[in-house]
Amino acid sequence: MIIILRPGHSPAERQAVEDIISHHGYRSVPIVGELRTGIAAVGDGDKETLCQCEAMPGVERVMRVISPYKLVARVAGHDPEPVRIGELSVGGDRLVVMAGPCSIESAESLFGIARAVRAAGATVLRGGAFKPRTSPYAFRGLGVEGLKLLVEARAETGLKIVTEVMTPETVDLVAESADILQVGARNMQNFPLLLAVGRTHKPVLLKRGMSATVEEFLMAAEYVASEGNPNIILCERGIRTFETATRFTLDINAVPLLKKLSRLPVLVDPSHGTGRWDLVLPVSRAAVAAGADGLIIEVHDRPNEAISDGAQSILPSRFNKLMEELAMVAHAVGRTL
Ligand code: PEP
Ligand code: MN
Repeated sequence: MIIILRPGHSPAERQAVEDIISHHGYRSVPIVGELRTGIAAVGDGDKETLCQCEAMPGVERVMRVISPYKLVARVAGHDPEPVRIGELSVGGDRLVVMAGPCSIESAESLFGIARAVRAAGATVLRGGAFKPRTSPYAFRGLGVEGLKLLVEARAETGLKIVTEVMTPETVDLVAESADILQVGARNMQNFPLLLAVGRTHKPVLLKRGMSATVEEFLMAAEYVASEGNPNIILCERGIRTFETATRFTLDINAVPLLKKLSRLPVLVDPSHGTGRWDLVLPVSRAAVAAGADGLIIEVHDRPNEAISDGAQSILPSRFNKLMEELAMVAHAVGRTL
């Protein structure tokens, strides 16, 4: 960390800064420029508290030199690390596509969708059993019954399963069934939940909060990693902007940026990112072209009757077409599907 002193600071103010630096376990190294003086705090001390010295009278600003996320950061010269889910690997040359309904609604519908997405080349089945809904009066999922259906669909199709966990208390329950634990956008900063999924060794699909910055997103991933679970997959799913023509604005910039800043695989969710079924295919193409390691897509056999997110769900036939097109885009950027 480098503490930049105000022009015209007094010797007592500078001394106070050096005292705070040593109080927090660092060594002071002065950096004297023509217009400004800075003091580098070198060593391994308490950065969060040291940041507060920005409020001291002689201080102009405090600059971080190293990113605040350490466990999930990409180390220069090291390749990103794929996350393994049994024989499946997320973050390698081969893209991973997760697909299925927003919510698990019935056995018949789930199994039909599962068979269709598998035939089209998906390797992971998605589906919410515990649903975070804006209205408490909306369908909030089949709960444990939904988990059982997912497990049956996995047994029949061989697909891995990803499903959302909403509370720390239900992490063990969901982890018994799921291959990947999904932490939803609305829970990206539910710190007790992040720590609880961090204590399992299950892969975690961490969705970006709709108002979270890239740094906040990576700090949420750091929470999971800090409990000893390195198996984290990031998911860009759109953020809130001034634009209301689409449900969210998919932050395509975040894809190459996250891959540069972190060692974690990055997925894109074009369904929530757009909120419109007719935009899912073109935005999926863009995601793969931008370097995403895969996609998570909502597919429904009767989107008009879907209990949640029907407007952004695509039919199995369209999903099939999407997979064919993505294979070509993947090939163009040196990946396979
Ligand atoms: C979902 O995947 O259905 C979902 C609720 O996603 P998000 O948390 O990104 O809104
Ligand atoms: Mn949904």
